Amino acid sequence: MPEVPVDVEWVVAEDEKMERVVQRGKTTATPEWAHSVHVEVAGLQPDRWYWYQFKAGDELSPVGRTRTMPAAGSPTEKLRFAFASCQRYDQGFYTAYEHMANEDLDLVVFLGDYIYESGTKKNAVRPHNSGRIFTLSEYRNRIALYKTDPLLQRMHALVPWVVTWDDHETWNNMAGGADRSDEELARRAAAYKAYYEHMPLRRVSLPSGPDMLLYRGLSFGGLANFFVLDTRQYRTKQPKLDSPQDIMSPKATILGGAQREWLFRGLQQSPTQWNVLAQQVPIARIDFKAGEAPGYNTDKWFGYESERRRLLDHLLAMRRGNTVVITGDVHANYANDVFADYRGEKAPVAATEFVGTSITSDGDGEANPADREALLAKNPFMRFYNRERGYVLCELTPKTWRTDYRTVEYVRQPGAPIHTRASFVVENGRPGLQKA
Ligand code: FE
Ligand code: CA
Repeated sequence: MPEVPVDVEWVVAEDEKMERVVQRGKTTATPEWAHSVHVEVAGLQPDRWYWYQFKAGDELSPVGRTRTMPAAGSPTEKLRFAFASCQRYDQGFYTAYEHMANEDLDLVVFLGDYIYESGTKKNAVRPHNSGRIFTLSEYRNRIALYKTDPLLQRMHALVPWVVTWDDHETWNNMAGGADRSDEELARRAAAYKAYYEHMPLRRVSLPSGPDMLLYRGLSFGGLANFFVLDTRQYRTKQPKLDSPQDIMSPKATILGGAQREWLFRGLQQSPTQWNVLAQQVPIARIDFKAGEAPGYNTDKWFGYESERRRLLDHLLAMRRGNTVVITGDVHANYANDVFADYRGEKAPVAATEFVGTSITSDGDGEANPADREALLAKNPFMRFYNRERGYVLCELTPKTWRTDYRTVEYVRQPGAPIHTRASFVVENGRPGLQKA
């Protein structure tokens, strides 16, 4: 691209051939923002599909498809979405998206690790385009590399994406609310800027140095409110596993005060049939290791027990029983009943959690991991565990939430078939998993 501003025209139409144009406009792509454009179109009809296209000079973009959400509060019969996370480019092919494209979705929710910041792994199936990244141009080039994948491009062009980040969009185990050295702040500003440029985000998320507003709400008619969370930018440093007083400390936070207040108030006021927490790290207290020794991990909500409990107590006190947590991060499928207090024998289920596996991260997975029986025995609230790659399909109606764990047999070669390895339903008003 030339290092000069480029005029861009955009068109929105009611049909794929771009004949019934409903709006058009002009904007400018500047080198300061990597020649990205963020167009916010007002005045479209609710609850319908549109197609869009860009033109710069003589170049026409492919036609993309998107949809508007049903009007807030309107009776809404159905929502079909998939959620995904962790698409480490050098570890596999994006076959999962090839199958996801056939799912007849309203939207995709991406829960983080859209890129990875490190160099290329040993035995990679395709290389990263540099070593570990630190600078703005390196973060830009890394996201650009990921975006060259045709299956990922196609999925973006098919349905709207709701995105949030986890740690690897900046660096491993990032905890932005603590220990902010100048060096870290500069690296984070670079990462956030590149992320904003390349992602479908509104201008309200425009970063300012190392700060970027990513948590936000989204409603799908009267059916579902999504609370899209950012558990990285404001969290205090992960406590040491052998430091129970730090894990229990009320000063430890994974949300930060402002986001917590926004979330608690939003949940309290939410009139929709379902509330969805679209977020990064597991909220169920998972012991990840088979064997005698406990395998808890303080990078998860487990490390912020006081706040974890506060949130789940809040859900219990609301007595709505309609909150479902969707989670990425751990490169495995888990389905969990979530408790505020795990010690009580008859504690009520506070929420349901679907943890979705990676698209590619950790390479070819396993349908039947050797530690499965041990892990399920150690975590009695867990109803499903699998280590294949894939995505999670969710279909919501006013009364029922259905989840299908969709997995591919392998990712080190293209073309793997897809399977449904487990299905669950959640009844509205009755949190917890039921076999479908
Ligand atoms: Fe990951
Ligand atoms: Ca992660």
